[in-house]
Amino acid sequence: MVYLNVEEVEDALLTLSRTYSDISSLIELPNKSIEGRNIHALIIGKNKDDSKHRSILFTGSVHAREWGGSDICVYFAADLLEAYSKGTGLRYKNQYFESHQIKRIIEEINIVIFPDVNPDGKAYSQSDPANVLWRRNRNRSESHEDADCIGVDLNRNYDLLWNFKKCFAPNARVETSDDPCDPRQRYRGKSVFSEPETRNVKWLFDEYDGIGHYMDIHCAVGAIYYCWGIDQNQFVQKEQNFRNPEFNQFRGVENDQKYREFISIEDHDYVTGLANTFAHFLEKVRGTRYSVEQSFGLYPTSGAGDDYAFSRHFVDETKKKVYSFTLEFGDDEFQPPWPEMKEIIIEVCAGLVGFSDKIANENPL
Ligand SMILES: [Zn+2]
Repeated sequence: MVYLNVEEVEDALLTLSRTYSDISSLIELPNKSIEGRNIHALIIGKNKDDSKHRSILFTGSVHAREWGGSDICVYFAADLLEAYSKGTGLRYKNQYFESHQIKRIIEEINIVIFPDVNPDGKAYSQSDPANVLWRRNRNRSESHEDADCIGVDLNRNYDLLWNFKKCFAPNARVETSDDPCDPRQRYRGKSVFSEPETRNVKWLFDEYDGIGHYMDIHCAVGAIYYCWGIDQNQFVQKEQNFRNPEFNQFRGVENDQKYREFISIEDHDYVTGLANTFAHFLEKVRGTRYSVEQSFGLYPTSGAGDDYAFSRHFVDETKKKVYSFTLEFGDDEFQPPWPEMKEIIIEVCAGLVGFSDKIANENPL
């Protein structure tokens, strides 16, 4: 195996934090995983000790089988730290970032990477060829010892329209389930934030309240998605939003006029611009084209991390607005052969550097 395993990711974070201790620190997450693993994130930046400083959060391997998300996080961090420390630029084949761009990222913003949100699930998926398509965590509490009924789909466990039967239209194709034995592994958990792994992500938003951008790294489509995943976006009717109970039973149906999710036109233009920046720099490496879409284009989502992050400032105006994205790297394989995964890492890292530099170059929002 050439993909990093959970222990190797932890070792890499520790090594990076020690090698580049002036511009990076380990973050110990407060909740151990269901199987008791201690998990870490890494914060990078000249202002790393200021949790209120402008920051971007990247998460990987929320879904156990999507191994490469962790590797992308680790290589991205290592590239930035090494280039900044040496005072060099960064080359990703045909795309070159100048040293002043790397300097700008490290000095203007913080980058928080959390490569293994779901370490138990990934370790299980990597432990035996029979398990490679495992998606959930390893929570056994509702499995009744049935191996097919273990685990929660973490990306359905966040506090955002989690109660899909109440909040969505009966005919909406919401990709979630209240059945622990759901054969498509979409079980949402017994309550919002029932899982320590999703509580860790929430904790990062609470604790590092300078986070203003979030990208959750998944596979495998070849696309970058921006909010919302609830329904098609609209820019006019503010009251047509996820908090309004009048619209329960209407959400999630494509091309109808009864409900669409509100986002301001300014925010919509801003997130599409950033997503296009990512896709532009990714394409420059070897010509791969990722599509830029609203996440509803994939399917209606309930309890998903990207929408939860963007919803926080609507629910509580004291919270910072978090512009959020879901990356679906690759093509159609959850674990591309390593030679291809290496190429994917290179092009995605170019996209991430371009994305981060654009944010670093903004006036503080
Ligand atoms: Zn996924």
